[in-house]
Amino acid sequence: MRRGMMLVALLAVGSVSIGIGAPQEPTPVQLDAAEMVMVRDNLYYVAGGPPWNRPGFSGGNVGVFIADEGVSIVDTKLPGWGPTILERIRTVTDKPVIRIINTHTHGDHVGSNSFFPETVTIVAHENTRSNMEGMEAFQGDGMKFLPQRTYSDRLTLGSGDGRIDLYYFGPGHTSGDTFVVFPALGVMHAGDMFPWQDAPFLDRNNGGSGLAIPETLAAAVAGIGNVDTVIPGHIPVTSWDDFVEFQRFNADMVAAARAGKSDGQTPAQAVAAFDLAGRYPDYRSDRIEAAFQTIYDELP
Ligand SMILES: [Zn+2]
Repeated sequence: MRRGMMLVALLAVGSVSIGIGAPQEPTPVQLDAAEMVMVRDNLYYVAGGPPWNRPGFSGGNVGVFIADEGVSIVDTKLPGWGPTILERIRTVTDKPVIRIINTHTHGDHVGSNSFFPETVTIVAHENTRSNMEGMEAFQGDGMKFLPQRTYSDRLTLGSGDGRIDLYYFGPGHTSGDTFVVFPALGVMHAGDMFPWQDAPFLDRNNGGSGLAIPETLAAAVAGIGNVDTVIPGHIPVTSWDDFVEFQRFNADMVAAARAGKSDGQTPAQAVAAFDLAGRYPDYRSDRIEAAFQTIYDELP
């Protein structure tokens, strides 16, 4: 594994090197994958490339929402991606970036906050701000690029067609994951509460929980209305039905881990009994054993 890839992998895993901030020049493979994808006339995303463990990864999908008052972006990828994000935005609008919403604390979602001018308002859940305060990139001078605006349960930004609703339903991937909804468009950016069709990374060091994530996702499914299109954290745009399926997948995974542990199975045996390929044929299995292990650790 090349050194660059190793750093990227560690950043995505999030525990060891979340603070490692040396920006890396985007590679041609990453730049190719980081295409601007239209979701609606005034909503795009700068693709994050394939999930963390494959070439071309540049961090999360960056939502780009264009309203009368300016451009709001959701997440900022790995360090070093600011110029590319801005270049992509300039292919569709001349309006200024006025706001960054960070869905959660990980370096592949907040890594290029510091590229944007200090006049840009950074918004996140209060627990995400606390988590970010522990990152090396946000010490000293870097504190300017922490979220200045936080919320606890729900926050509405803008109005009319430019309205953005932020929702928090509890721990899951981390302790501070925001669901970003564009109500006029029927679209949600789910961050890493729906990162890909595979088990989620459950970052217990940042307050995440494999036991809690099915309930948190169920609260989102019940509490968010009128969305048909979902921008996941790391894979191409998908549907509300796929998001609902991801909730069911997480609930099934916790039930299987619970049963496996009480039957004295190892996590690997419980994964084998889960029959991922039969029940969720579109899903990958890169992270499933790690997720089972985390859930085992959380179970009494
Ligand atoms: Zn993450």
